[in-house]
Amino acid sequence: MPPTDYDLIIIGAGPAGSTTARFAAEAGLRVLLVDKRQELGAPIQCSGAISGHGLAAAGIDADPEFIHEAIYGFAIYDQEGERTVHDYRLLKPDEYGAAEGKKPLGYVVDRRRFDRYLMTQAERAGAGVWLKTEGLGYQPTDDGHCTVSLRRYNQDLRLTTRVLVGADGLQSQVGRWAGLQTHIKITELAGCLQFIVDGVETEGLLEIVTGHEWAPGGYAWVFPKGHGYAEIGLGVIATMTDKPAQWHLDKFIRQSFFRRRFANSRVLEVQGGGVPLAAPLRTQYADNLILVGDAARHVNPITGGGLHTAVAGGKIAADFLIGHLGDGLPLQDGALRAYQTLWLEELGEKMWKLYGIKTDIFHNMNIQQRDRQLYATMSDYFSPTSEFKKI
Ligand SMILES: Cc1cc2nc3c(=O)[nH]c(=O)nc-3n(C[C@H](O)[C@H](O)[C@H](O)COP(=O)(O)OP(=O)(O)OC[C@H]3O[C@@H](n4cnc5c(N)ncnc54)[C@H](O)[C@@H]3O)c2cc1C
Repeated sequence: MPPTDYDLIIIGAGPAGSTTARFAAEAGLRVLLVDKRQELGAPIQCSGAISGHGLAAAGIDADPEFIHEAIYGFAIYDQEGERTVHDYRLLKPDEYGAAEGKKPLGYVVDRRRFDRYLMTQAERAGAGVWLKTEGLGYQPTDDGHCTVSLRRYNQDLRLTTRVLVGADGLQSQVGRWAGLQTHIKITELAGCLQFIVDGVETEGLLEIVTGHEWAPGGYAWVFPKGHGYAEIGLGVIATMTDKPAQWHLDKFIRQSFFRRRFANSRVLEVQGGGVPLAAPLRTQYADNLILVGDAARHVNPITGGGLHTAVAGGKIAADFLIGHLGDGLPLQDGALRAYQTLWLEELGEKMWKLYGIKTDIFHNMNIQQRDRQLYATMSDYFSPTSEFKKI
């Protein structure tokens, strides 16, 4: 019989949950990680771009097992195709490059393999991992612990834990179980669609195309995918267009300044999903409960990237819980606020600042000015002097 009593039960074995589980289990906590999927990371709903800093922040080696392609910099385009290039092979040749002794700036990872890799690390550290297990609810108890209801295959179970970690992604239910305000405004939810294509040359850069004409409320991208493949995608805000993301992606491919570059591309796969370009949740804890990753809106509101913040946030959550549980501190009546304080110090303050910048841009009703602001912001954001380069 598996144990029925844990220090941590973590709902969601995405990057945030698996990273939390790994570090907590390494420190000796009794951890159960559950995910309702039978195959992690599938269907893929992610372009997979993550910086080397992001991996390092969570102690994850850049393992060829999950890497599609190495990234060496960025090209940011305005609507007409003028571009700013930050190629770190040229900017910092002693540090970045493909030659021995140098390193890439980041990677495009395969989300199926990445999620499985992180989950395996958690399992090897001693966490129990249950797939095809859905979290259904939780209830704090008078003895300072809580019960968690799960459905594993078709069997309903009730387990006990000291802390429940909600790492259940964008459509998180865990926060709602605790009555947290998790609603996301439609004006801050980007509908994203991407095609995996062949026949499109790339040069080791993440390419980002700004401009209302191509992606109202968001941006378009061309990412290298390895083996001669590329990802062409975009995200749009539904309140800024009356057309779906697919219409905009078709238009971008057929009409943008890249149309000749894309002329011989063939679509091999279609992937999509929602990305919150929103502020972090104002309250990310409740009695016996904390949230991490997309569930807590730990997503960069300018880029929409949530992988770095999921794994870095997962480590912050684990570090906090190891200390808090180790010291036998209370888990109810606001005692877990200290988690949010730590997260704000280590990551969150910068995310709030980015949210302010993003809001300033998109509150500007003059489309041309807004386009110029977004292009300038993106160009600065990815430059070597950016104050945000480690987010
Ligand atoms: C089209 C697209 C492209 C993107 N591209 C990038 C990119 O290039 N770079 C980047 O940094 N970010 C990107 N993102 C964002 C990134 O995918 C997310 O921020 C990231 O996956 C968040 O990780 P997470 O662990 O918080 O949540 P998730 O990866 O969503 O994992 C949550 C897990 O919880 C499980 N779950 C949910 N509910 C329950 C339940 N009740 N019981 C059990 N399990 C449950 C789910 O099955 C899932 O496995 C992209 C997103 C989209 C949609």
